[in-house]
Amino acid sequence: MNKKFYFLPLIFVLCAALTSAVLGVAGIKLHRAGYWKKAGKGSVKCLLCPRACLIRSGKRGFCQSRINKGGVLYSLTYGRPVVAAMDPIEKKPFFHVTPGEQVLSIATAGCNMRCIFCQNWRISQTPPDEAPSMKMSPREVVEAARKKGSRWIVYTYTEPTIFYEYMFDICREAKKAGLKNAMHSCGYINPEPLKKLLKYMDAVNIDLKGFNEDFYRKMGSLAEIEAVLETLKIIKKSGVWLEITNLIIPGQNDSPGDIKRMCEWIKKEMGQDVPLHFSRFYPAYRLKNLPPTPAETLKSARAIALEAGLNYVYIGNAPEIAAENTLCPGCGRTLVRRIGYKVISNRIKDGKCPFCGRKIAGQWKIDEKKQPVKQPEQPVREGALQ
Ligand code: SF4
Repeated sequence: MNKKFYFLPLIFVLCAALTSAVLGVAGIKLHRAGYWKKAGKGSVKCLLCPRACLIRSGKRGFCQSRINKGGVLYSLTYGRPVVAAMDPIEKKPFFHVTPGEQVLSIATAGCNMRCIFCQNWRISQTPPDEAPSMKMSPREVVEAARKKGSRWIVYTYTEPTIFYEYMFDICREAKKAGLKNAMHSCGYINPEPLKKLLKYMDAVNIDLKGFNEDFYRKMGSLAEIEAVLETLKIIKKSGVWLEITNLIIPGQNDSPGDIKRMCEWIKKEMGQDVPLHFSRFYPAYRLKNLPPTPAETLKSARAIALEAGLNYVYIGNAPEIAAENTLCPGCGRTLVRRIGYKVISNRIKDGKCPFCGRKIAGQWKIDEKKQPVKQPEQPVREGALQ
């Protein structure tokens, strides 16, 4: 028998293995992940987030978004957004970053937390290969932003950490095109990948879900709060613009003592100019038995934060309270007036209060000279979002 025929079955097996590794799961093209190491007997250890999942061959990590195929870790989310939609930047929420700007929001399926109160659980808690998604390369995402005239790409809705490689590549493409990057994250990421990412980030909003380890565990987030606090410190040190969101859930993380400790920690470690957004909880996912956060609880949290010395404290998802305006910490005048996500007026001039001249922390303008020219209008492919 000709020698080459001995090799045919071997070649077939190798090709099948390669095809399976590349096409992977449910036809999804796998993308080799970063931040992992071999852990023996075909297992790998993921080093992207503090969960440090030990993943056996053929299995996935806690987030369902990273799979071990033949001793190599792959991302299931690369190039597969479930949302690509235009939103006001206030929705992220960013209140001290180019007010009134329309931005391109991107998300894939998956999350490295399992919060039972998740407001976007339909996409965050669905494995990427089970969620209807689009195909968009990093370059196509940037093109979509340019065509829509968006000067920002915001990684949001689900947890951007679990599409780290995709986000990172989009960030680099965006920078080349003169665009800015921002993310809204739970902050559960290891320092090394975070620091590398921050080089391309212009603004970050971190969910500080509570100031209590028990709350993080009990609510299914199953995360160590210390790691989230460490993330906040790294962002602060990097100089990237930071805002913080705290969703207040009745009877769960609304203790005035915890809120006071959280605000004092923010002032001490982050400084009094970091905007804090208290957000109203609405019954969702596996926490439908609780009522929405009462207005009185939200107002009292804001009073505690102001008393602790924070300069910019907002209340979201509760328009009747009208605590969405930016006030000058110097003279108390209203500088940016908002109703919901809509900016009604913005009086900030050159980053300062026009009445008393006090500097107002934030990124109020983008250098227009560095921005891309707006392209002819074409629809962005939009994914469904609850
Ligand atoms: S990113 Fe996913 S796989 Fe990696 S450690 Fe975190 S939960 Fe585990």
